[in-house]
Amino acid sequence: MPAAAHEFAFVRTKKHFVALTFDDGPSEWTSPVCEVLRNWGVQATFFVIGSAVADRAEALRTLHSDRHEIGNHTQNHIDLTGAGITTEEIRTELDRAGTAIESVLAVRPTLFRPPGFRSSPLVRMAAAHCGIRYVVQSQVWSQDYKLDSSSTIAAEILNHPDLRPGAIITLHDGRPPDEGPWPEGSRADRWRTVEALETIVPSLLEQGLTPVTVSELIRRNLLMRLGRMASTRSVRDRSSTSRS
Ligand SMILES: [Zn+2]
Repeated sequence: MPAAAHEFAFVRTKKHFVALTFDDGPSEWTSPVCEVLRNWGVQATFFVIGSAVADRAEALRTLHSDRHEIGNHTQNHIDLTGAGITTEEIRTELDRAGTAIESVLAVRPTLFRPPGFRSSPLVRMAAAHCGIRYVVQSQVWSQDYKLDSSSTIAAEILNHPDLRPGAIITLHDGRPPDEGPWPEGSRADRWRTVEALETIVPSLLEQGLTPVTVSELIRRNLLMRLGRMASTRSVRDRSSTSRS
């Protein structure tokens, strides 16, 4: 097992793929998000909060049966880089969420996204200890949890300067427990995200950017690098043959 999980915010691939990711579920908005993705026939990665799993086990099963990928987003959505936090506490947050997900799906995630994207060498080491291989950051994300218009959310993603092949895009299908219940009269609930997705997914496809899971991006990257190694080797073989 490596000493620290590998962290990245972008994955280079030969063909034009992007990863769509959703944080802070499962929630009442997970199934509507899933519905949009199903209509367009695309896959995404959901970083789920362990403490929300028991009440939304069915939504998690639907994600899994629709071949979306599930990642760990800690048990209680706490800041893992907070002052005085211990390695033990970080491991407990990751392990409890991993166990909650495994109890429903019989699979333990190897992808992890730290709450608020806040990571550190300590977090990466604790993650590796808990069987996590990758800490998944993001360059293209929207503050959809604050925005009250779906067109603004869609524009934030589609006009983002880092939107390109290999980008990891982040939206939110839930609300973390540390933010409390939905505020009275809030217009920034996740319906705006669901509506925005109706614009975002077809626009990505029109641009030739196919949404896939994060693991699929990683697999594509590996294939590309293996292909390069093979072609470098065949060039080397050809030149050694021509010398002999
Ligand atoms: Zn989060």
